[in-house]
Amino acid sequence: MRVRLESVCRSVGWLVVLSLAGVVVAPATAFDPATDSDPLHFEIVAGLSDPEVAPRGLSVRSTPEQRELAATFLVDVLRAGGLEPQRHRYRHRNANPLVDLLLPPFRGTNVYAVLEATEAGAETVIVGAHYDSEPGSPGAGDNAAGVALVVSLARELQETYRPYRYVFVLFDQEEDDEIGSRAFVRYLRTLDWTINSAHILDVVAWDEDGDRALEVQISRDYALQAVYTEVAAQLGIEVTFTGGRGASDNRSFADAGYSTAGLWGDEITPHMHRDSDTWDTVDFGLMETAEELLFGVLVSLPGRIGGSAEELPGFGAEP
Ligand SMILES: [Zn+2]
Repeated sequence: MRVRLESVCRSVGWLVVLSLAGVVVAPATAFDPATDSDPLHFEIVAGLSDPEVAPRGLSVRSTPEQRELAATFLVDVLRAGGLEPQRHRYRHRNANPLVDLLLPPFRGTNVYAVLEATEAGAETVIVGAHYDSEPGSPGAGDNAAGVALVVSLARELQETYRPYRYVFVLFDQEEDDEIGSRAFVRYLRTLDWTINSAHILDVVAWDEDGDRALEVQISRDYALQAVYTEVAAQLGIEVTFTGGRGASDNRSFADAGYSTAGLWGDEITPHMHRDSDTWDTVDFGLMETAEELLFGVLVSLPGRIGGSAEELPGFGAEP
């Protein structure tokens, strides 16, 4: 989307360092991250999924140890961008209390950063994506790509007038029935914040027909859909809408009654949950389209949502 010379320069420098260290591998495709993608997107997608490219050797993010390493990586990435990351550690009991006697409760860590609104008294907008992956899958498309977009949007919104308090959150354990985002919703409810809306990214990674189309899962709020429709039309981005509670962490927010949008590519990658979900299968152009749309939505929300939520007949029904 936007050409960021300083980012490109930074990326080229980063590649030089990696080249000197002998760790840059020739990509399987002709894709060149220095020129063909947003360098920050590539840094995070590859950094989370490919130990050949990532100096810290991250890949699958499934076991507690792997997820903890990923959380630390993300804290560092957010901090490097001038944000103040925090760890939200949670415990979640097993469904049957008796099982708790045999198995330890689930534990995990959501990583989040808050950008306060430019003026006091503003409502809160949530922007999130999960960082864990299925066992055996490096999860580049599902969902390192979404993580990269959340971090990138946080950096962008840092530089602008902010009509809302924005909470950028990277969820643990989406692949375990969205335990991480459910715990985060419980945490949000302990705070004195009015939630305007939640925007959740998952599997924005595959665009075989090259149409740059996106799917938005909207629950509850027709006004929110109207904002997406308007911004997509202005930007010339094709968007299809589906109702229902959503199929990812957006479900946690929809179940809690928040106006929620789940943003996906309109094609599901055939590599999802497989060992082939590597960064060289990710469509970085689609990621830029998604970021452009979501940035537009996040700065177009004022006066449109917040108290104007309405449920239309048939809206929000299960698909
Ligand atoms: Zn996912």
